[in-house]
Amino acid sequence: MRIGMPHMGNMYIPFQALFQRLGIDYVIPPVNNRRTMSLGAKYSPEGLCLPFKLTLGNLIEAAEMGADTLLMPGGYGICRLGYYAKTQEQILHDLGYDVEVVQFGVSERKLLGLLDIIKHLSNNAPWFRIISAFRFGLAKLNALDKIERVVQRVRAVERIKGTANQIFTKAVRAIDRADDYDTLKKVQIDFINQLNQIDEDSHYEPLIVGITGEFYVVLEPFSSFDVESELGKLGVEVRRTTFVSEWTKFSLFLNPLGINEKDRIHKAALPYLKRYIGGDGWESVGEKVLHAKEYDGIIHLAPFTCIPEIVAQNIMPSTRENIPVLTLLCDEQMAKSGVLTRLEAFVDLLERRRRAQKINV
Ligand code: SF4
Repeated sequence: MRIGMPHMGNMYIPFQALFQRLGIDYVIPPVNNRRTMSLGAKYSPEGLCLPFKLTLGNLIEAAEMGADTLLMPGGYGICRLGYYAKTQEQILHDLGYDVEVVQFGVSERKLLGLLDIIKHLSNNAPWFRIISAFRFGLAKLNALDKIERVVQRVRAVERIKGTANQIFTKAVRAIDRADDYDTLKKVQIDFINQLNQIDEDSHYEPLIVGITGEFYVVLEPFSSFDVESELGKLGVEVRRTTFVSEWTKFSLFLNPLGINEKDRIHKAALPYLKRYIGGDGWESVGEKVLHAKEYDGIIHLAPFTCIPEIVAQNIMPSTRENIPVLTLLCDEQMAKSGVLTRLEAFVDLLERRRRAQKINV
C-alpha cells in the first residue's frame, strides 16, 4: 500500500512523522503549484470550490507518483466536503487510476475513529506503536504552529523584510528532520530565539489584521497567494485563531469532554446568525464581532462558490461592530497582482482610519 494525501500548509510533516514510525509508505506530492491548480480545475465539475480543485490536483499528482491509497480529509458537517472523497475517487477512476480514496477525518467517533483508520492503514500495527507515532506527529504539529505564531508577529516589525520567512523555512526543514522529542524541543527553542533576535523597529506600531474564513484557504498559503506574508511585507501583524494544532486539540480531545472553543465565537455571532450553516461561515461572522475592538481590520478568505462563506460575507457589513473587512474570493481565476493591489488599498484605508481615530481621541 502506498499512501498519498493532499497538502494543506505544512501538514505533510506531522503525517510524514506518523507514517514513518508505522512503516507506512507515504508519497508526498509536489507542494501546490500552477500545475496542481490546472489539473484540479480541468477535471473538477464546474462550480466546485477551490479546496475540491486543489486537493483533486494533489491526488492526481500523488497517483502519478504511484500512490494507490489516497487519503482525503472529510467530515460529517453540512458542507459538500463530506462527498468529496467519493466524487474524487470516481474522477480518478475515469482518468484510469486504480486507486482507493479513503475519507480521513473526524467522525462522530472523534479520536477513536481516526485511530481506527490509522490502524487499518498500518496493517494492524499494535496500539502502543500507533499511539506513540500519533503523539510524535502531534508534537511536530505543535512545534510548527508555535513557531509560526512568532513569525506572524515578527514579519510586521522586522527591518529587513523576508528575514522571518527565511528562518521559518529553515525551521520547517529542521522540524521535518527531527527524529526524537529532545531534538524537536531544541529546534523549537532555537528557532523561536532566532526569530526574537531579528532586528526590529521597536517604535513601529503595526496595524493588526485578523485572518478569518474557510479552514482550507486560511491554512493553505497557495490558495490566497500567501496573504499573510504579503501583509507582513506591508508592515501588518496578522492574527489568526485557526491553527491545525488548536483544531486537533479541541476536535479530538476537548470537544468530546464538552469543552467547545467555538462557543465564544458562536455567541458573538448570535445577533446576526443563529445557527450553524456549514463550513466556517458562523465563525467568520463571530470573529468579526468578537475582535472588532482588538483588530484594525479583517481579511476574510472565502472560496468562490462556498455557500457558508457567501452567507457570512453578506452578513458582515450589517453588524453593529464596525471594522473594515476585505473579502478575497479565492479561485483559479484569482491573479496575484489583483490581490496585492487590493491588499495595499486595504492597508492604506486602515492606516488613515487609525490616524483619524488618534486625532479624535
Ligand atoms: S466549506 Fe466551502 S470551501 Fe470548504 S469544502 Fe465546504 S463548500 Fe468547499
